[in-house]
Amino acid sequence: MLPAPVASEWEWQLRAGCRTYDVSIFFEREDDAEQSARARAVCGGCPVLEQCRDYAIDAGEPHGIWGGLSARERNRQRWRRPRPPARQSQHQLTFPVIHPRGRARS
Ligand code: SF4
Repeated sequence: MLPAPVASEWEWQLRAGCRTYDVSIFFEREDDAEQSARARAVCGGCPVLEQCRDYAIDAGEPHGIWGGLSARERNRQRWRRPRPPARQSQHQLTFPVIHPRGRARS
């Protein structure tokens, strides 16, 4: 069974500045600086730029403009920052520790 979705991890997307734009402008072509500049301008006024950028860096999004950064720029930032702590599973298994003298502890 999959863990339940955690709304706080995705609800920032409801406030995304790009929700009303054609998504194609965010997926830059290397040779189209104008298209990239338009996408970055939208990101520049976005209220969830930080969350978007963090998500894209952590997820390793390989394409497009996210949080005002290209894939190459995100890659550079990924290597500079500390890794986020691993998410705790809600279904973490715990096993009793069997004491060497025979009493179980949990
Ligand atoms: S930062 Fe840019 S790509 Fe990210 S949600 Fe905002 S407008 Fe969309």
